[in-house]
Amino acid sequence: MRNTLLSFVIPCYRSEKTISKVVDEIIDVVSTRDRYDYEIICVNDSSPDDVYTVLQELARSNGRIKVVDLAKNMGKHAAVLAGYSFATGDYVVNLDDDCQCPTYELWRLLEPLEREGYDIATARYPEKKQAKWKNLGSSVNALVSTFMLEKPKDLRFENFSIIRRYVMDESIRYDGPYPYLEGLFLRVSRRIAFVDMKERDRGDNNGTGYTFKKSLSLFVNGFTAFSVKPLRISTFMGVLTALIGFLMGLFMIVHKLVTPDVLLGYTSTMVVQLFIGGLTLMSLGMLGEYVGRIYISMNKSPQYVVRETMNCDAEKEIAHQSNH
Ligand code: UDP
Ligand code: MG
Repeated sequence: MRNTLLSFVIPCYRSEKTISKVVDEIIDVVSTRDRYDYEIICVNDSSPDDVYTVLQELARSNGRIKVVDLAKNMGKHAAVLAGYSFATGDYVVNLDDDCQCPTYELWRLLEPLEREGYDIATARYPEKKQAKWKNLGSSVNALVSTFMLEKPKDLRFENFSIIRRYVMDESIRYDGPYPYLEGLFLRVSRRIAFVDMKERDRGDNNGTGYTFKKSLSLFVNGFTAFSVKPLRISTFMGVLTALIGFLMGLFMIVHKLVTPDVLLGYTSTMVVQLFIGGLTLMSLGMLGEYVGRIYISMNKSPQYVVRETMNCDAEKEIAHQSNH
């Protein structure tokens, strides 16, 4: 019987100091079981440091390490999808380039897929180490996606997860310019297992590659790319305030008729105007966000552009080029 092939997909950004360690660890862990083979797909998300040189060296010394070099920085999710289009394994393991993922827990993470029929397994880190603003951001993010993506509560994807081959194949069929991995996985399957483990510290002191701005745009993307609920909410709020405005207007007319000497307040007028104005702007902004996205999608802006690859299977590469 053929061995099970595990494809490890690693988006690389500012990790010249840690990537070799991550790769070594993967190789060590996989070598503990005979029935498994590995391939490692490292995607250089146009990192400003020299990680690409390190990756090239790794690929030259080991044919199972595939390297994909992106022409410009497209963010983690696009980078991962770029990696997927070169992955050929039975299972696809997602992990970060900064040694934070406890790679030695691989087999525990794989178990629910192999034995219990799950499609996706993600690590769960009961004590999460990250910046304070990120903690807050993550909670808000979780709340929003529970609502917007109708994601089951408590479902949270961490940076270490395994998906079945077919989940990956379905995910790469999405060719929109704003990919969001969790959203893509959730479109495919709800058979998701959680495996508790401990996240490690970053292997360097570079700090996160995710600035506040990047996280914010990912957050907005998370719901506008896969849900029209924000549009519905703004319509609903618009109707609601129009109604309130109408009732208040009626009340003021009646009030004026009953007590003719009342001077209609400047304040109340201003309050109403500001309120309605704010809501109008909000709805317009929301609408603009969608219109902009339609425009960009119609332009066929690419998710990512591959500059060059190493050790990538020729067949898949050709298929890939005709896709994009
Ligand atoms: N990443 C990327 N492109 C970027 C920023 C980050 O490919 O523009 C990758 C990075 O290489 C890492 C993953 O996304 O594998 C998570 O990044 P990081 O560890 O900086 O984020 P955090 O763990 O703090 O959420
Ligand atoms: Mg990290």
